[in-house]
Amino acid sequence: MKCQNCGKSIKRQAKSCKYCGVRIIQKSDKMAKKMTMDGGIAMACGGLMVIIAIVMAIYGGRMWAAIILILGCLLTFIGKKIG
Ligand SMILES: [Zn+2]
Repeated sequence: MKCQNCGKSIKRQAKSCKYCGVRIIQKSDKMAKKMTMDGGIAMACGGLMVIIAIVMAIYGGRMWAAIILILGCLLTFIGKKIG
């Protein structure tokens, strides 16, 4: 694999680049896995909020529907970015 900083080829398991010393973030890290999972949860919550917003829009509460819709879209967007 290649160093993200200097572009030189380094060992796949390397924790840092031996040429420039930059820290290598392993994609298999537990952190990365957790982030992906959180992204999925955020997306699921976002989708749910959009549904709630639609229901609220039908039964009155236009203002709350708009707020929840914006929050839902934001959550989905963040979820996509993380995941
Ligand atoms: Zn490097």
